[in-house]
Amino acid sequence: MNSFLLAMDWGDIIGYQYPSPQAPQDRERLIYMTAEYRNIPSVSSILECTEVRKLSDEFSISNVTELVRETLDIARGKMSEGGPAPSIESLTVEILSVARARWRNWPVRVINATGVVLHTNLGRSPLSSDALQAACEASAGYSDLELDLPSGKRGSRQSQVSQILCELTGAEDALVVNNNASAVLLGIASTATGKDVVVSRSESVEIGGGFRIPDVLIQSGAGLKEVGTTNRTYIQDFEKAIDENTGALLSVHASNFKIVGFTHAPTIKELSELGQNKGIPVLHDIGSGCLLDPSRFGLTGEPVPRYSIEEGADLCFFSGDKLLGGPQSGIIVGKKHYVSQLASHPLARAFRIDKMNLAALNSTLLHYIREEAEEKIPIWRMLSTTKHQLLERAQIIKDRLGSLLTIEETRSAIGGGSFPGFDMESISLVFDNGSPDAMGAKMRNCETPVVCRIEDDRLIFDLRTVLSEEDDTLARTILQNVND
Ligand SMILES: *Cc1c(COP(=O)(O)O)cnc(C)c1O
Repeated sequence: MNSFLLAMDWGDIIGYQYPSPQAPQDRERLIYMTAEYRNIPSVSSILECTEVRKLSDEFSISNVTELVRETLDIARGKMSEGGPAPSIESLTVEILSVARARWRNWPVRVINATGVVLHTNLGRSPLSSDALQAACEASAGYSDLELDLPSGKRGSRQSQVSQILCELTGAEDALVVNNNASAVLLGIASTATGKDVVVSRSESVEIGGGFRIPDVLIQSGAGLKEVGTTNRTYIQDFEKAIDENTGALLSVHASNFKIVGFTHAPTIKELSELGQNKGIPVLHDIGSGCLLDPSRFGLTGEPVPRYSIEEGADLCFFSGDKLLGGPQSGIIVGKKHYVSQLASHPLARAFRIDKMNLAALNSTLLHYIREEAEEKIPIWRMLSTTKHQLLERAQIIKDRLGSLLTIEETRSAIGGGSFPGFDMESISLVFDNGSPDAMGAKMRNCETPVVCRIEDDRLIFDLRTVLSEEDDTLARTILQNVND
């Protein structure tokens, strides 16, 4: 080892020359560079190019000037390594491409051909056209968000939606916040700060996106008291854990995993009876908040809000943009006493939902009141589409694409932390020709991007999550990309 190091040192000493600004070649380089820097196009000459002038018309002269300066700085940096000055044409191309990438509308509409109905990366549930229109109308002008029009007095942004949520779930009262994570945090903070929350060891879980029950408890200022074991917890475990410092009993639906086999968990009814006896609130985080009977779609094992309330939970928490099929929101339903306690907590103000989401949620809930959820709410349209209907649509698309694709029976997942381990029958168009990664990338970079999945080295376009009105665009986009 030593002799090797020695040899290296010798080599370095023999081969290495210290840089010196006085060295003749460096002086020549300096002269060359100084001359070359003078060849860099000026800011004003770039701003006068037709394309750049159009850009200034659209995005203002000051923003575009700033971008031109930034691009020239980068070009100068590259030249310090010894390159030639960039041409005005190449600078213009660069400026236009940066401007297009940076100042674009976003998020853009994409076609979800992954087969995952509630895809968090793709914005979870798409909205019904009524919900969309309601959100637009509520925000294009002023609205009666917090004004009671008949009396002219201050109103509540909660009362309308709360009323409908009570009708749909059988609860005494309801409150809506930004998302379910904040709903749960608010629920724990307002019932158990400075106290302990009792949770089954099997439910002290991570929901995803960094939302971990133990961390949520720390943030809310409550202590965690885990009871039972990973697979089996009994009501007696909860009972034994309760003391004068217990603030709440919490049950969290395992929405993204499944424990199977030798398992046991107390029912919400058992927990509620225990809580009632001891005067301790029972909080039930059910995650998805399905307002239709899931067994009609062959879906089982997901708790529904009405059931949680019937079983006696004091507060039940769920998302607005999972199986409810509405906008991002966190919904709390439950006993009046506890809901008012949450509503007056300072965090409720911090987690306040905005008018666009409220309008969209209200409109989505009305679909359930009208019993038209399956026809009007996109995720229920997708989930209730039969295999036969999917096959008919696949055939029409395939007729346009010929032998480029095959039709196959596949399975699609619900996703978004709902029905883990459950998948449903679906029909897919399968592309089995060349590199699936390259083709997948092409499909994502189209005018209307298409996101699909890769399985066994083949590209799968699962029609379950493609809205029927998107079939035409899907066919056109596939055709464009396969042909070039
Ligand atoms: C999804 C989920 C959450 C988080 O809901 P968001 O609306 O995404 O904030 C919390 N708890 C459970 C059980 C969930 O499934």
